Amino acid sequence: MTKRASPPPASDKPGATAPPPPPAWRHYLWVLAIALFLVLYFVLPTTRATSPVSLTYSQFLTDVTAHHVKTVTIYTTGAASGTLTNGSSYTTAIPPQAGQAFLDTLQSNGVGVTATASGTSFGADVLSVAILILPFLVIGYIWYRLSKGAASQLQGAMGVGRSRAKIFDEEQPKTTFSDVAGYEGAKLEIREVVDFLRRPDRYARAGAMAPRGIIMVGPPGTGKTLLARAVAGEADVPFFSVTGSSFVEMFVGVGAARVRDLFQEARKRSPCIVFVDEIDAIGQRRAGSGSVVANDEREQTLNQLLSEMDGFDPATGIVVLAATNRPEVLDPALLRPGRFDRQVTVPLPTLAERTAILRVHCRGKRLDHSVDLGIVARGTPGFSGADLANLVNEAAIVAVREGRELIVAADFDQARDRILLGRREGSNVLLPEEKHAVAVHEAGHALVAALSDKADPVAKVTILPAGQSLGVTEQLPLVERHLYGEDYLRQALAVRLGGRAAELLKLGQGSTGAANDLATATDLATKMVREFGLSSELGPVGYPEGGSVFLGGGAGLSSRPFAEQTQAVIDREVSELLRQAERTALEVLRTHEPQLDRLVDLLLASETVDGSTVYDIVGRPEPSFGAGTGLTVAPGRFAEEA
Ligand code: ADP
Ligand code: MG
Ligand code: ZN
Repeated sequence: MTKRASPPPASDKPGATAPPPPPAWRHYLWVLAIALFLVLYFVLPTTRATSPVSLTYSQFLTDVTAHHVKTVTIYTTGAASGTLTNGSSYTTAIPPQAGQAFLDTLQSNGVGVTATASGTSFGADVLSVAILILPFLVIGYIWYRLSKGAASQLQGAMGVGRSRAKIFDEEQPKTTFSDVAGYEGAKLEIREVVDFLRRPDRYARAGAMAPRGIIMVGPPGTGKTLLARAVAGEADVPFFSVTGSSFVEMFVGVGAARVRDLFQEARKRSPCIVFVDEIDAIGQRRAGSGSVVANDEREQTLNQLLSEMDGFDPATGIVVLAATNRPEVLDPALLRPGRFDRQVTVPLPTLAERTAILRVHCRGKRLDHSVDLGIVARGTPGFSGADLANLVNEAAIVAVREGRELIVAADFDQARDRILLGRREGSNVLLPEEKHAVAVHEAGHALVAALSDKADPVAKVTILPAGQSLGVTEQLPLVERHLYGEDYLRQALAVRLGGRAAELLKLGQGSTGAANDLATATDLATKMVREFGLSSELGPVGYPEGGSVFLGGGAGLSSRPFAEQTQAVIDREVSELLRQAERTALEVLRTHEPQLDRLVDLLLASETVDGSTVYDIVGRPEPSFGAGTGLTVAPGRFAEEA
């Protein structure tokens, strides 16, 4: 049962951010500077002029004789200033005729006399000028910094072809094949490269062509980058790594120059490995004449890469490794012999490989003896190596949060649920009647699954909301399947519609909670009709979704490869499949209504019910793990979000 019908949008890789332009507000800084200047210009003199009282000469003399004057500074211009005994300062003017008698008066009344040559104090003048131009200096500096940032970015882009900006990393990885669990087949193919890099001369003498390029193909997170590093680590050679997207710049020709640079450097350091990660960014099919948009820059970069790979002497000992998760978009020229002539597939790990990967990532962590990594691996079909690394880390975090250093089996469970479903919230976010509806819905899924002989066994039912779902019925496959029969698919449809069927049966109406079930069921049914040829009316034809998109090279130009009537037939067949599945589910639930009520009560009481309890209720033996025949291909992530 879900809160929202559509899943959150898949987060995409953020594109490279363009350098920010210099902020436009910097122009206002000048207005600010002038305003500050004016304020200071008017304020400064007043601050100096307010305090001193200005005295007439006779007042001054009176004060002197009354012993009110402490000091006096007499300038050659005749101006004088000083302090009075009460602490306040004063200014006055001394007539040039005053002469010796005046000085004697000062002396006899105990006034400290200073004579100064200049008119006003020179230091104060300098200071006030400095203060006045200070705003211009400060704001001029800020302006300069703001503009310089933009200028240097512009210059960087213009000059990069010449300035040979380094975009590749060179290192000597310490990764070895033992850090890469599983993938024995891929390692075997790649081991040859290691051998070649260690003794390039031997290959040269024998006249053997060593592989020049290997392209690793597989879903994200399956360890392609890790494998490439391991090759460099095993062969003990320098490793030049670069991402395809970093070649592509705004200016045509930059990418090509960078490719040239990269190989120039690699030639100097051979034997070595050049690793182009995410090569699909530059290696996409070059646009044909029919294409709407041509990407000149990418094509030039690709051409340069191709000619570099053609150009180097096989004996130099450079091996180019590349990785991609979209092999179908690659230009055929890249895959020609002499370039990336070898493809190594790096699939999602099998059960045994998942166990091995878990073991690698549990190194150095303290595991309780309750943890069986084999069971963890069984519960994580469709997880990639990166997902598993993440799982181990999450489990460790759960343990730390509970104040333990030892990771126990329950931590792995919790981590897995969190990764698959999001964080669990308490069930009290639901209104009581909502809680009841969710329990009915999930019990419906669970019962239909437990009563269908071909469906994947129920592992757990819960009405604790988590992430986007209000409740979950989790099914885990007994074995990893290569293919699914029609009976399995039909029952899977019935299980998916089981939630809604239970709502119709017990509550008399449907609800929004089934939206996601309906969407996935419709998707599966459409595939059954369109792609798997499981509809008698349409017959043995297959129109794979998006099959024609890549042929023309331009995405979004695909057209439906069948007639309007065919679409009508497909729609009819899909809806017929779904109706049948709903009938099946309703039938199963109607004949097992007491069991349904029992499960609903149990769910309301304890919120989470184990698969074994569900099988107890329906009076069937729980299908046991281990009955598997050792089939080994991950069937894709399968947590029935029900
Ligand atoms: P890709 O390049 O295929 O997207 P990465 O090589 O970047 O994937 O793998 C991501 C992480 O997943 C690695 O850093 C490693 O921790 C983990 N990982 C993936 N595959 C394996 C494996 N076979 N053995 C051990 N760790 C793995
Ligand atoms: Mg990678
Ligand atoms: Zn559901």
